[in-house]
Amino acid sequence: MRRKLAAGNWKMNGLKAELDQIDALTERHADSPIDLLICPPATLIAAAVSRVANDAMMIGGQDCHSEVSGAFTGDISAAMLADAGAGAVILGHSERRELHQESDELIRAKAVMAHQSGLITVVCVGESLAQREAASTLDIIAAQLAASVPDGATGENMVIAYEPIWAIGTGKVPTLNQIGEVHDFIRARLEQRFGTAAGQSIRLLYGGSVKPDNAAGIFTVPNVDGALVGGASLTAADFSPIIEALK
Ligand code: PGA
Repeated sequence: MRRKLAAGNWKMNGLKAELDQIDALTERHADSPIDLLICPPATLIAAAVSRVANDAMMIGGQDCHSEVSGAFTGDISAAMLADAGAGAVILGHSERRELHQESDELIRAKAVMAHQSGLITVVCVGESLAQREAASTLDIIAAQLAASVPDGATGENMVIAYEPIWAIGTGKVPTLNQIGEVHDFIRARLEQRFGTAAGQSIRLLYGGSVKPDNAAGIFTVPNVDGALVGGASLTAADFSPIIEALK
């Protein structure tokens, strides 16, 4: 059985005052039967970790470098994230792929490094609107999975987030059939590559305009094991009903 996972990606949002949202979430969802992950900006990771009691929530990073250490001004290594108390890291988010020209190969190298530091990786895949309209969604997903997910992925160290680029921050959501088609496809590809047991145990999240009012519907789709939530993860008021819908 895969444990459900509600993950929040704060992106470049959040000052110290917003750590109150983490307090509110952990209070409200103490003893939650599902896993909670919040990925705040790196500046807040250590402080967020120190606010979370009893492993009520995992704190994660939003990116890491592919090298162990060195002359990479402004970058953060996987070991640094782990050292700050992070348990996971988002990799290959479409905003990194687009705005920082991250390739599948780079994302894979980052994932290898993250696994070496004991972090769970949340590797994001997803098609653009043009690619969907050209009916190449599944080809794109297949290529991204093959090249950005490293060997040795298991249910313990890997989560895949399907995030159609056109649904991120736009309020547009694919139909439940479209979500189901891609999640079933990802599941089949993972089973093919990693074997049935590992392929079955890797959690698949849907991401892109998940909100309190559409979460319950999305969570009825087979092979959707949770969500990666951007905007609606910024406040406990919005994220809580999404967590409730997943319970
Ligand atoms: P959104 O972002 O929920 O604001 O659409 C999701 C994401 O980018 O992970």
